[in-house]
Amino acid sequence: MISIKPHFRSLINPSYQRIISTSSSSSKTFFKSHKTEHKHEEAIINLCKQSQLPEAVQLLNNITHPSQSIYSNLLNLCLQQKAIEPTKRVHLHAKSVNYSLGVSSYNRIIDIYCKCGSLVDARKVFDEMPERDLCSWNVLVSGYAKAGRINDARHLFDEMPERDNFSWTAIISGYVRHGFPNEGLQLCRVMLRDCNVKCNKFTICSALAASAATQCLSIGKEIHGHIVRTGMDSDAVVWSALSDMYGKCGSLDEARHIFDKTSDKDVVTWTAMIDRYFKHGRKEEGFLLFSKLLKSGNKPNEFTFAGILNECALDNLESLGKQVHGYMTRIGFNESSFAASALIHMYCRCGNIEVADRVFKWIPKPDLASWTSLINGYAQNGQPEEALKLFESLLESGIKPDHITFVGVLSACTHSGLVDKGIEYFYSIKHKHGLVYTVDHYACVIDLLSRSGRFSEAEDIITKMPMKPDKFLWASVLAGCKIHGNLDLAERAAEALFKIEPENAATYVTLSNIYATAGKWADVARIRNLMDVNKVVKKPGRSWTEIKRKVYTFLMGDTSNPRLNEIHELLEDLQKRIKENGYIPKTDYVLHDVEDEQKEQNLSYHSEKLAIAFAILVTPPGSLIKVFKNLRTCVDCHTFIKYVSKVVSRKIIVRDSSRFHCFEDGRCSCNDYW
Ligand code: ZN
Ligand code: ZN
Repeated sequence: MISIKPHFRSLINPSYQRIISTSSSSSKTFFKSHKTEHKHEEAIINLCKQSQLPEAVQLLNNITHPSQSIYSNLLNLCLQQKAIEPTKRVHLHAKSVNYSLGVSSYNRIIDIYCKCGSLVDARKVFDEMPERDLCSWNVLVSGYAKAGRINDARHLFDEMPERDNFSWTAIISGYVRHGFPNEGLQLCRVMLRDCNVKCNKFTICSALAASAATQCLSIGKEIHGHIVRTGMDSDAVVWSALSDMYGKCGSLDEARHIFDKTSDKDVVTWTAMIDRYFKHGRKEEGFLLFSKLLKSGNKPNEFTFAGILNECALDNLESLGKQVHGYMTRIGFNESSFAASALIHMYCRCGNIEVADRVFKWIPKPDLASWTSLINGYAQNGQPEEALKLFESLLESGIKPDHITFVGVLSACTHSGLVDKGIEYFYSIKHKHGLVYTVDHYACVIDLLSRSGRFSEAEDIITKMPMKPDKFLWASVLAGCKIHGNLDLAERAAEALFKIEPENAATYVTLSNIYATAGKWADVARIRNLMDVNKVVKKPGRSWTEIKRKVYTFLMGDTSNPRLNEIHELLEDLQKRIKENGYIPKTDYVLHDVEDEQKEQNLSYHSEKLAIAFAILVTPPGSLIKVFKNLRTCVDCHTFIKYVSKVVSRKIIVRDSSRFHCFEDGRCSCNDYW
């Protein structure tokens, strides 16, 4: 009578085993069989309570006169476990004993099929149902919408005899989530004008999401009015969706206004508002709000930290980043989260590779982003050998590198002049690691070859590239041509660059320098003229340094720094002292910046020199100096800083647009190769 396999029994709890043993000895009389069925029913319900679905379904075989409660218990459990096969068996059983399941059981079955992704089964049940209620329609519409079968959802939605909040929310958010926000917005309009619809917070949120996704501020404002009128403005979820809508529509001040009025803000709301400021470049306000968050008693989460740290990384705000780090340590954070990799990234970008390395070692299982940040950090901070060593350990760890990792690896090879090794790595990207080449990989390998003067190999790779070379690639070629005096290729590279970005002064300056070195003065004049014709304006050089949490920015010829006289005196004094040590101003690079450089001979200096002199003045002797520059540093400044590091006994780190230079005792970590 009981067809349970022996091994199944051991899975079943003892109370059930007792039932089996009593029932197996039962007699055949009708009365007794009814009694045993009752016991089976009890057993099924008990098993359901203990979430033992397969065993409970198995017992259904013994039931011929089921009750509604068996089915509801079983279906509830099926829904909980998203179990499609047991659901089918329950449904079949009801059919086999001619039991008519109620509407709510049918709805549940449809719901299970939808949640398991079996929409065909769901539809079949829906079509077979003897009668349906609003919920039956809603469940299927929502099932279609969530699965992205938005047309099917809409068909069904249009056929609905009546609709409620749930129906509208399902269809609108389906449209928004699957990339049809305009259709969603259209329905919002219909819904808002339909007096029969009483919006609840979910409908309102889906409508707000539609206007946010379409950046339709007018509907957004209409919904805002609706919220106020219907008194929904006490709900934090609605407020946060409203603030999000204003933020996405670009009305940041409105978003902030809503944010300020939200009474019980959680950390998600705070983080969203802070990120909105960053996204729109309003950094100051973002940082201010972050410090407000710290004071509010809310605990920032990993998303908050990562957002702030990335911003610090972008602007090289190391001391703020350090403060955040300190705070994270105090309140504790998940060391294997992306907040940890954001920390590493921040320290690397700020040139503090030692601390980056320490954080990395402290993470029990660093993720690929952390590895990649550190590899890139070492490559850019003048320790390419460390970068390559780290890459080898990454391979040993079993984590697969991605295309960004290889950008770090290739630039490490470039910075250390390991050309053959670099080529080997380049080919391994595709052949050993099965990754697809990106335009960045090509730019890196061309940089590597051009710097070492291996132009024919470079050209060979360029012609075989599947995509169009970008400006970075051509700029590398041009820079290589400058080092090795390859006029022919330089002209072609410049030609390509003039097409991609005719407004970039650097191309004109580099090309005219190459002509000047070759003594081709007519061409120098032609390029100068071309610059005028194309109205090319040179990007002004800008350097900055952070001292005691304040950033000081220097531009050539800018007289706003109150200590400018002292700075100039110091620079003159330094110039005298380093000349005694063998420094010769690089006059052959005067053409790097014709007019500007002449000024330098007299009273003005390139911005990095001003920043360094200022830092020497205001920081204690022997302490580290760190300067950032928006352009590539010139040869003369590079030589100058090398000498200065020696005569003032300071370690000076300069990050220009191409890499970090670490000057110490008369040498630079780039080995004059940048
Ligand atoms: Zn310079
Ligand atoms: Zn250097």
